[in-house]
This record gives sequence, C-alpha cells and structure tokens, in this order.
Amino acid sequence: MHVKGSFFTTLSQRMTVVRTEETHCNLCGGADRDKLDEELGFGIWQCRDCGLVYVSPQPCAEELPRFYEEMYPNADEATVAARGFGWVERHIAAIVARRKPEGGRFLEVGCGYGALLEALSPQPLELHGLELSETAAAYARTRVPTASIETGPIEDAAFPPASFDVIALIAVLEHVKDPRAVLERLTALLAPGGLLIVQVPYPHPYIKLKRVFPRLPVSFEAPRHLYGFSPVTLERYFREAGLTAIRTEVARPYSGASRLHAGLIWAVKIPGIVLAKLTTGRWIYPFAAAIVTHGVKK
Ligand SMILES: [Zn+2]
Repeated sequence: MHVKGSFFTTLSQRMTVVRTEETHCNLCGGADRDKLDEELGFGIWQCRDCGLVYVSPQPCAEELPRFYEEMYPNADEATVAARGFGWVERHIAAIVARRKPEGGRFLEVGCGYGALLEALSPQPLELHGLELSETAAAYARTRVPTASIETGPIEDAAFPPASFDVIALIAVLEHVKDPRAVLERLTALLAPGGLLIVQVPYPHPYIKLKRVFPRLPVSFEAPRHLYGFSPVTLERYFREAGLTAIRTEVARPYSGASRLHAGLIWAVKIPGIVLAKLTTGRWIYPFAAAIVTHGVKK
C-alpha cells in the first residue's frame, strides 16, 4: 500500500502490512468508540471516554521494523533536504534553551537524519540519539560528530534510569504501538527535574472537517500513524507518567512542497500560535495540525 502525505507533510511512502490486530484505547482502556474515518482499510476511532484517537486494526509489532526501513530508503542530500523545513527543530531547541538553560544530558528518540541534534549543538548539552533506521543513523553521525547515536528500539535501549536531563521526540509517539509504556519508560530515564518534550500531529479536527468537505487535502496517514493526540489527551498521558509543569504549544510547519505551500501552512498556524501565546497555552487552536507538549519529572 502507499501511505500519502497530507497538506501538512509531503512525506509519502510505500508500506507493507501483512498481519494486523484489533486494539482498544491505550489511554483509558475504554472500549466505547466512534468511527471518524477509514484509510486504506484501517479504521480511525475516537474513544468516547477520554477522546484519544487511534487506529484499529493496527499492524502487529513485528511489522514495524520494516516500516522504518521503508521510511528512510536512502540518505542523499535531496531526500534529507525534503524531509523538513527545520522550523520544528529550531522551535524545540528554543524550548530546551528556555526550560534547561544549564544544559545537561540530552536524548532524542527517533533522531532520523539528525536535524534536531544539529540545531542543539550550540547548547551546553551532551547529545545522544536513538534511531531505528541504520541509514538515517549513519547520516546523523556524520552530520553531528559530537553526538553519540545508537540504533534500536527504545524498549531495548540499555540506558540506566535517570540517565538524561532532557528527552525529546519529534513525530515519533504517533507511530508506536503503546504510547503509555513508551512515556513511562522515558520518564524513568529522566533525572528528577528532567524535561520531556513531545511533538506530535493533532489531526482529528481536520478528519472531522472532512465529513463536511470531503475533498480537503488532509489525512490521518493510517497505518503509519497509529494515534492522534490532542492537548487534552497528551497532557493526561504526561500527568499519568509522573510529569508536572506541563505546557502545550502549536508546533511549527514540518515540511512542504514549495515556498507557497510553506506560506499557506504558516497562514493556517499563525492564529493558533498567537492565541496559544496570549493564553499561555490554555487555549490551543483545534486546527493547529501538530502540537508540542513539554513537562518536568517530579
Ligand atoms: Zn480512552
């Protein structure tokens, strides 16, 4: 099957799924749900109890390593340049500088081609990256020689508890099978007072809008995306993982096909960025398309 990008990301890829399994709400365990849409035969559901949006059936866990090979087919300059504008990385680097000016040990889970590690290299941080794709990790090691980059899933990484002062994930949590387990594991890897930063798509207001405007060029990107988070559901995950001082912001544009396209994405997001700033994150525009939530370990 071919999972296409949407208005908010140009990334489009082949994906082979052989085995699937039914799933229920990962956040509250509830089984009551409403169907929002279906893409490539995968249902997109919203939990009636907590509002989490999730794909069911989902590809089985053993299907996922192949997905990351297909996501990073090569590391030529054009592929790397097309992957992102760099605005998301600069925004997250600014959050790190604001909340952890003293620096410390930093881990990015899913560091891809190393764009965030590069953006953070001027800061007083000891940089670590973890990546599933060997191709992407090899590129990131040359791009950021000061960073220590390992390959493998976070579930298998041999970091001792409380190893890091900051952990960040860009466009990772929506791909994992068990976001609750991953967030609990990451919180355990943070030292007390450590900062967790998670950037994810916030797609379902657009999926609901497609019921009225079916030709809207947006998609959930099932089944490469397994979850759709909102400020409410992501902040609940953070609280239940043991994080505090939680803030949510509108994420910056990720990728686009042209300057015009980039300008249109900014035009959609700027009202949300301004309103989030004016309300210090208490009101996040439902058409923000992606959010960044950050919080501190107690
Ligand atoms: Zn739920």
